[in-house]
Amino acid sequence: KRAAEEAERGKPAETRDGHRVEIAANVNRPDQVAFALAQGGEGVGLMRTEFLFLERGDSPGEDEQAEIYRAMTEALGDRPLIVRALDIGGDKQVPHLDLPREENPFLGVRGARLLLRRPDLLEPQLRALYRAAKAGGDLSIMFPMITSVHELIALRARCEAIRAELGAPVVPVGIMIEVPAAAIQARSLAAHADFFSIGTNDLTQYVLAIDRQNPELAGDAESLHPAVLRMIAATVEGAKAHGRWVGVCGGIAGDPFGAALLVGLGVSELSMTPRDIPAVKARIREASLEGLRALAARALDMESAGDIRALDVPAIEQGE
Ligand code: PEP
Ligand code: MG
Repeated sequence: KRAAEEAERGKPAETRDGHRVEIAANVNRPDQVAFALAQGGEGVGLMRTEFLFLERGDSPGEDEQAEIYRAMTEALGDRPLIVRALDIGGDKQVPHLDLPREENPFLGVRGARLLLRRPDLLEPQLRALYRAAKAGGDLSIMFPMITSVHELIALRARCEAIRAELGAPVVPVGIMIEVPAAAIQARSLAAHADFFSIGTNDLTQYVLAIDRQNPELAGDAESLHPAVLRMIAATVEGAKAHGRWVGVCGGIAGDPFGAALLVGLGVSELSMTPRDIPAVKARIREASLEGLRALAARALDMESAGDIRALDVPAIEQGE
């Protein structure tokens, strides 16, 4: 089985009936790009920049960040790089920033909410990103934890001001869908975003009201819960109304059955931990889009994640 997976690595994730799915990698550090490509990644779908602020006592400045992003686009050639603006707060605490302690950090000043309050964090990062974009490559900017349209409009305005000031090219600006409000309002958000990437780790936590870090509830924090799948379906529908593409960069994208289901729901890009790429590609290549759509339709009617997981039988037994 392992040898078969290795052989699949370099091939595209194309279903038997010719539907191509983009397979990208989640990376936390620039030096992970090479491994992502070696695993068959077709680009970086999520660069978690908060890791650049961890494991050190200070924040990387504009010049240092610009060099990091530029080196990444260079390593990727013409393949896409989606850089997520700082997602700090919640489970991602940066001690040296000395942010106020919160009673409920997951419901507090995190992600976009922090960026909008801290231009000293947002602006050097955006300047660094546009400087990297000026040097070439296929760079996109993505904002985390968007809840309301006005946040996206405000962040886009910051992007545009900085872009114009630097004389940098226009780059796609997308958002994470990881708050139920964003999934439900996908259509309104899609009017202002170039793409969506669904963060199913946080989306699951907020839809099910289950702390993603609580070991006692880990078994219940199921991204394949029917309520989460409905949120994903709503996101795809909202995006389609404005012709935007939808990816998934949460953990479920790296689970072969989860990935199959997501493709059936209309997701066109999957971004995952590099080591998960070969098995996901193999799974998509053995399926048909028609079969995956039927699978997704059945899943949406189920009562539990367990019932949905029980639909995971080899394609051949589904009469394909
Ligand atoms: C997510 O929430 O699913 C996601 C991809 O972001 P992170 O895991 O970094 O919060
Ligand atoms: Mg998240």
